[in-house]
Amino acid sequence: MKRAFSYYFWFMQKITIAIDGYSSTGKSTIAKQLAKALNYVYVDTGAMYRAVTLFAMKNEFTSDNEVLNVAGLVAKLPEIHLDFQPNSVLGYAEMYLNGENVEKQIRTLEVSKLVSPVAVIKEVREKLVDIQKGMGENKGVVMDGRDIGTVVFPNAELKIFMTASPEKRAYRRYKELLDKGEDVKYEDVLVNVQSRDHIDSTRKESPLRKADDAIEFDNSDMGLEEQFERMYGYAQRVIAKQK
Ligand code: C5P
Repeated sequence: MKRAFSYYFWFMQKITIAIDGYSSTGKSTIAKQLAKALNYVYVDTGAMYRAVTLFAMKNEFTSDNEVLNVAGLVAKLPEIHLDFQPNSVLGYAEMYLNGENVEKQIRTLEVSKLVSPVAVIKEVREKLVDIQKGMGENKGVVMDGRDIGTVVFPNAELKIFMTASPEKRAYRRYKELLDKGEDVKYEDVLVNVQSRDHIDSTRKESPLRKADDAIEFDNSDMGLEEQFERMYGYAQRVIAKQK
């Protein structure tokens, strides 16, 4: 039944879906599922900020927890080429930085500790927002991040703002990192989640906030299936209204 609906929606006019929210709310999991069901392109903008962070680390512009040489990083921005390439085995696109698959490297706790300080840099945001706007210009995109509904696509037809308690989010992230074989402590992940929330929502450049017309979506006590069903329902209703 659901499939039949989804084929129907594949032929309807495409919309832009913006999913914003706090760290580790499960935005990307649900955004990927939604994009697949609607035959839309999925864009993980966090991966782009993470790739720039990895570049800054590799070029020794950072210490363990701060960006030491902002001017150096800004001067090198034109040398950063980001690319999402589909992985048919995994069923989703992976992040490439200057031709190298960095999908695994960008998900480490070291990168997570530095990504928010990198994401406050105005020039970094300008470069990435520009690329993101280009990726969504033909609609038919599900993009997740922190400023998609407020800055990248303020006119998106459907905006979702995801939240959950910091403890639940940190626990999910902790389990994810353990599953990937990383040796991490829950307390460190919780501190990282809280610190990223703080930096992301208090920064000067496009701080994380709910767009006035976004649907607030608290998934603290919701399983994946329920989240998907609700999101898919929102999308169906909006798509059905398109002329
Ligand atoms: O989504 P993810 O947790 O991978 O994002 C990593 C970090 O990148 C965020 O904590 C935030 O600092 C930054 N980010 C951002 N704007 C976006 C996406 C991510 O500032 N649109």
